[in-house]
Amino acid sequence: MSKEDYEMVMGLEVHAELSTKTKIFCSCPTEFGGEPNTHTCPVCMAMPGTLPVLNEKVVEYAVKAGLATSCEIARDSKNDRKNYFYPDLPKSYQISQFDKPLCEHGYVEIEDDEGNPKKIRLTRIHIEEDAGKLNHNEFGGGSLVDLNRAGVPLIEIVSEPDLRSSGEAERYLKKLKSILEYIEVSDCKMQEGSLRADVNVSVRKKGETKLGTRTEMKNMNSFKAITRAIEYEADRQIDVIEDGGKIDQETLRWDDVSGRTFSMRDKEDAQDYRYFPDPDLVAIKLSEEYIENIRRELPELPESRKARYMQEFKLSEKDSRLLTASKYLSNMFEEAESICNNAKSVANWLLSDISRILNEKEMEPENIPFTGKDLAKVVELIDKGTISSAIAKKVVEELFENPKDPEEIIKEKGWIQISDEGAIKKVVMKILENNPQSIADYKAGKDRALGFLVGQAMKETKGKANPQMLNKMFLEELKK
Ligand SMILES: [Zn+2]
Repeated sequence: MSKEDYEMVMGLEVHAELSTKTKIFCSCPTEFGGEPNTHTCPVCMAMPGTLPVLNEKVVEYAVKAGLATSCEIARDSKNDRKNYFYPDLPKSYQISQFDKPLCEHGYVEIEDDEGNPKKIRLTRIHIEEDAGKLNHNEFGGGSLVDLNRAGVPLIEIVSEPDLRSSGEAERYLKKLKSILEYIEVSDCKMQEGSLRADVNVSVRKKGETKLGTRTEMKNMNSFKAITRAIEYEADRQIDVIEDGGKIDQETLRWDDVSGRTFSMRDKEDAQDYRYFPDPDLVAIKLSEEYIENIRRELPELPESRKARYMQEFKLSEKDSRLLTASKYLSNMFEEAESICNNAKSVANWLLSDISRILNEKEMEPENIPFTGKDLAKVVELIDKGTISSAIAKKVVEELFENPKDPEEIIKEKGWIQISDEGAIKKVVMKILENNPQSIADYKAGKDRALGFLVGQAMKETKGKANPQMLNKMFLEELKK
């Protein structure tokens, strides 16, 4: 059998660090970085005799995430101890949630590979604390533990095995990231580990309903790595099965440099965490009123914003979806649109040139160095005929390098459009004189010759001539 006879089956467990000011069970700051062990206290260092107190904001943020993903919110929930030994876990147990998570049975809507809407079901969202970090000494001097991250609040979002391709997994994770950004519960900085995913992958022959044996890749924190790792791992599993072998249920480590997975430990299911309710914490009881208040304060989410863009700005479904996929891109669109009142043009700039530059620079929309106001200025300058769109492209590129008022940029660079009739006429006459063949072609019915002449005039003026005026004047001359 070939690879086409198999399908991938995946589920994701996503960990998002919550952007509360303080940790989940103490008042230490959650801020990223800092000198090792400076954001710590006896509670998060697990000194004997200390007691945890649940940070109410953590519950609020988790409920928000649950409501934004259509989950049922538990009125009655609790914290449990998950027991395991690892040097970055000072208590030797992690406070998490076992059988009564805060949120269950939600979904996130994505597009499948054919572009059709598809719901990815969420099993649950629960709250837990993050572990510390081990810094390994490369010179054999042992390992040092930094507990700044220990006790930073997390939500774990567990999906059902509904994903069928690396593309779906990527879109699911992007959608989830966008929702968490919209509701402002996590900064989702993947490079700082605030958003990371454990990916479960299995394969099965198409048409089969039984799940294959899965492997798990932990702590993946870049879209590119996740996509590559899934593709690699599914191919590897198919090869093993095709060779008559069996897949071992195991935890794998993805190595981005060599582009392959390595075995870390096997029989994951055999690990017994000996969960039991944390006796130091009270049960979490939520009233209807509490949940309704949070629901009422939910901001506009990507799906409804998309619908509004199609209605209010008459943008296409695709453009509306791409714009609202990122809160930052979408906010920039709204800021620029409110100033220049040209939704179509603002959307085009954001989705074509600006998105292309972001891609080339491997930048996220939140790192765009200029404002929606600057973009509105560029659109206005085109609309007023001060610059051509060819020049505007150069202005946008310059805005990425050297952000400042677009008007200043075009003044400094001498990019103002030539709209003076006399000056344009001069150029037109010169181009006509140098291209008698094109004149003959045009008169013989070859309309393309006009485009060629306009192009030559643009080249002559380094893109600064007003294209409408050029067109008009060439036509006048050619008809003489
Ligand atoms: Zn602390």
